[in-house]
Amino acid sequence: AKTTGRDMALFYSMETDLRAVARQTMEQQLRRALERNELSLHYQPRLSAKGARLLGVEALLRWNSPVLGAIPPSEFIPIAEESGMIRAIGGWVLQQACEQWVRWQALPQGQGAHPLADVSISVNLSAAQLSDPALVSDIEALLARTGMPAHRLELEITESQLMDNAHAAAQQLAALKALGVQLSIDDFGTGYSSLAYLKRFDIDRLKVDKSFVRDMLTNPADMAITRAIIALGHTLGLRIVAEGVEDLATAQVLGALDCEELQGYYFSRPLPLDHLEAWALQHRLL
Ligand code: C2E
Ligand code: CA
Ligand code: CA
Ligand code: CA
Repeated sequence: AKTTGRDMALFYSMETDLRAVARQTMEQQLRRALERNELSLHYQPRLSAKGARLLGVEALLRWNSPVLGAIPPSEFIPIAEESGMIRAIGGWVLQQACEQWVRWQALPQGQGAHPLADVSISVNLSAAQLSDPALVSDIEALLARTGMPAHRLELEITESQLMDNAHAAAQQLAALKALGVQLSIDDFGTGYSSLAYLKRFDIDRLKVDKSFVRDMLTNPADMAITRAIIALGHTLGLRIVAEGVEDLATAQVLGALDCEELQGYYFSRPLPLDHLEAWALQHRLL
């Protein structure tokens, strides 16, 4: 039988309902995720382009739900943002990261310091956190409580977050900078910031978005954009990080272009804590 327009309309409205229910279920489960210990951090190494020295790790949130399975952050972070949960979750991430950094100082040393003893740790901030008037005093209190030195904490903020409310963001970043933390612009090249704005923010690093890095050896436009971002960043006195480095050839070309820092699957995927500690010890021997 031919499907009537009414059947189709019914079908689409059922599909919409199903999606709404799925989202609601995810939100309900996420509300309990923190207290039920379902969230954890993975850590992805960041290396110097020259010498492949371990410089830092980026903390990336993971959610393993006993009901829904492993949910990627691209799915649950937006829900956490829309439902207001991101402040609690983001606060938890910051606290875990600082406590973990402090624990790395006490790792058995063997010959010389443990390779994780002096890295910086990067945390992604969401828009709601950046617009929270309590953010700066919360971070100040966290640093004092954990004993984490400010200059080893790096906050990653996307370009679009900055531009949405550039004036307020500039003030927040200035206050964070005054604490001594490091600031990076994440996913650089995908937003719409102008040179003038970039100059106004007191930032330390630009992270070239992985969508440009991934295909830069085969796509001339991506290569041109990556080179332009590196040159622009250097003009402003910033360090450049390329994310999404998946092969040796790309790493070598980025090094030749004077990109200072590299991150990507070629070196390591984001790793759970015990794997990261093993990776760092092994990497030092290379
Ligand atoms: P991001 O901050 O741009 O993080 C980098 C993402 O790229 C990570 O995905 C990482 O696993 C992935 N990646 C790293 N190297 C490569 C590579 O060589 N190739 C490819 N194809 N991908 C690579 P992940 O962990 O799924 O996180 C996705 C996004 O979720 C992050 O993007 C960030 O925006 C957000 N996110 C993760 N954790 C947090 C958090 O604690 N707070 C907030 N607000 N957002 C977070
Ligand atoms: Ca990031
Ligand atoms: Ca990024
Ligand atoms: Ca990206």
